[in-house]
Amino acid sequence: MLAIFLVTCLVAFAGYRLRSLTISGAVLTVVTGTVIGYGFGWFGLYLLGVFFSTSSLASKYRSRDKEPVDEIVEKSGPRDFVQVLANGGVGMATALGMILAPNDAWLFAYIASIAAATSDTWGSEFGVLAKQKPRSVLTFREVEPGTSGGVSPFGTFMSVAGAAVIIGASLPLIDISLAFAGLLIALGLTGSVVDTLLGATVQRKFRCRVCGKLTEKRVHHHEPTSYISGWRFLGNDAVNFLAIASAATISFLLLR
Ligand SMILES: [Zn+2]
Repeated sequence: MLAIFLVTCLVAFAGYRLRSLTISGAVLTVVTGTVIGYGFGWFGLYLLGVFFSTSSLASKYRSRDKEPVDEIVEKSGPRDFVQVLANGGVGMATALGMILAPNDAWLFAYIASIAAATSDTWGSEFGVLAKQKPRSVLTFREVEPGTSGGVSPFGTFMSVAGAAVIIGASLPLIDISLAFAGLLIALGLTGSVVDTLLGATVQRKFRCRVCGKLTEKRVHHHEPTSYISGWRFLGNDAVNFLAIASAATISFLLLR
């Protein structure tokens, strides 16, 4: 238990020094990591590590080419505690479930939640680099890269790859069949699907009064933006959380 806590502290500190986490993000990473380590042992921490390291690399990959996207998305740069909670909170809940009422379904729900988080992150971090502009899943019109609810063939491919990497990383350590692994990839992908659908429909969107661009930011070009559509309380972090929670809930109910 102490070893798990110390390793988590080390990872959070490294994440802070590498500018992947803010201070508050690092503190919440210690809490999340310790609970997950307690619920699922070293396997749980290992999988969290795979998500954490590949997502950080995905964010940093060609970050200069992604600067225009920073103008659209709500937050960029190091992750704060709300973002850590949005991505790891569901995993922490499954670990608590495992501690309180042990059942293998919690483990599979945890794996699906990490697969969903990775799939989401890879889909957006790599997807924005696609040569073709993404299209809205709702209207099929072209949208700016980084717009929530926009999809491209390359982004979709990277979403599948992200989920597959998590299941692939789990395979040597848990005793499951290849068919079951395929099912887990699909369950992880439901997270990306929910994320895209919510992003296209009810996620709040604003427009800059200066440059006229559609954005998730409340302030653009130093001016408050105008509300365009969506539920005002539903920002990107909440959508992420709901998407990952859907993947975990479906997995738990199906595999219980
Ligand atoms: Zn602007």
